[in-house]
Amino acid sequence: MSWDGLYASAFEKVRERIGKVGKVLLAYNTNIDAVHYLKSGDLEERIRRTGIDEVLKYSEELPENIKSVPQLLGSILWSVKRGKAAELFVESCPVRFYMKRWGWNELRMGGQVGIMANLLGGVYGVPVIAHVPQLSRLQAGLFKNGPIYVPKLVDGEVKLVHPREFGGEEESCLHHIYEFPRGFRVLDFEAPRENRFIGAADDYNTTLFIRDEFREYFDEIASNAELAVVSGLQALTAENYAEPFEMIRANLEVLNERNVPVHLEFAFTPDETVRKAILDLLPKFWSVGLNEVELASIMEVMGERKLAEKLLADDPVDPVAVTEAMFKLAEKTGVKRIHFHTYGYYLALTEYRGEFVRDAILFAALAAAAKAKLGDVPSINEVVEAMDVPVNKKVESVEETLVREYGMNEGMAEVNGYQLAFIPTKIVEKPKSTVGIGDTISSSAFVGEFAIRP
Ligand code: ADP
Repeated sequence: MSWDGLYASAFEKVRERIGKVGKVLLAYNTNIDAVHYLKSGDLEERIRRTGIDEVLKYSEELPENIKSVPQLLGSILWSVKRGKAAELFVESCPVRFYMKRWGWNELRMGGQVGIMANLLGGVYGVPVIAHVPQLSRLQAGLFKNGPIYVPKLVDGEVKLVHPREFGGEEESCLHHIYEFPRGFRVLDFEAPRENRFIGAADDYNTTLFIRDEFREYFDEIASNAELAVVSGLQALTAENYAEPFEMIRANLEVLNERNVPVHLEFAFTPDETVRKAILDLLPKFWSVGLNEVELASIMEVMGERKLAEKLLADDPVDPVAVTEAMFKLAEKTGVKRIHFHTYGYYLALTEYRGEFVRDAILFAALAAAAKAKLGDVPSINEVVEAMDVPVNKKVESVEETLVREYGMNEGMAEVNGYQLAFIPTKIVEKPKSTVGIGDTISSSAFVGEFAIRP
């Protein structure tokens, strides 16, 4: 069958059966993304009012975190000058207040849990239980309608309610995203490419704060779950990871005991100590999802420098290097499923066999293309609108390599006792939005796989 034929049949299979998936537990990070499209006149005036010299200092070198307005404006300049993304924690309350008064153009659901909750619950209709560290009215308003629940303690009992019915007057975890287009000019600077600077006014997600409901009643919460997805470990540091990791380990043990398959959505974790700790925790996961940069960063802490370099050397990424890295990771940790995604293709290495693995990643690629094409996907029915996005031709050489090396046939091969599934993705030329597209890919593939398992 052609790739288009395989795409169409995979989509129909998942659409038919996704309604049967039970509750998916999502932990731990949910926040509010306050998106601000920078205006050059406004930014320049703010810089002048604050003091040009003071601000310029920080455009040379980023501070460790943000304690003053000159540091905020200087860090934005740092990003503009280089066309590079950066994210810093905003420590000071007066600066947080300054950012709030500066305002934003748009509020969006943020954090992997928030994004996946809206996709799985709001778009696919799969019931989800979400960990939301702080539920302010602003945060609650960003949840879509649908079977999305948060645990609420009522007279010592856990009730599952929609976030808007939680009625919590908690804090807003705001991630201020200052976006600029390519060619954006301010003072003497011009942005070489579009990008963003993020100032996180958020004490909760950044330290992986875990709510009391999840600390004290996790057994009960987990008893409702059929699947689980864990994310949000990426901002931790060597100084603060120990306490949350203890809690996560305890949560995972409960899920393991109940035989709930848990997926880890890996995100780039700059701190090496934390990355190593995640690697040590991986045996408690059933599945892991990552891209080439993330896989390379794991190879590095496993002492596989050469392989890490290979993963980042070519475009498209060398599939033999990826397969080799996935083997090493599977053998070291015992995870049963590794889902790798890169621009152009996905691979899934599984301990088990079946076309449903490939079909689930095909569904995920269609969902990703629909998101890129439409921006927001209203329901699973619109995912099909991505069918007319062409299958990526640039990765034909990748498929040829896999056929030659592993005897791949229609995206399936058996290698060293594992199954390797491959698909070329559909790439949208002018995407409307790529925010959270990695989360869309991984959660659609993981949940989709369980929907169509024989
Ligand atoms: P993010 O953290 O931004 O979600 P990831 O690297 O996790 O980034 O996910 C990006 C993935 O999205 C890429 O690996 C690629 O497969 C997919 N992708 C990016 N741009 C497009 C596009 N225009 N059309 C379809 N898929 C895309």
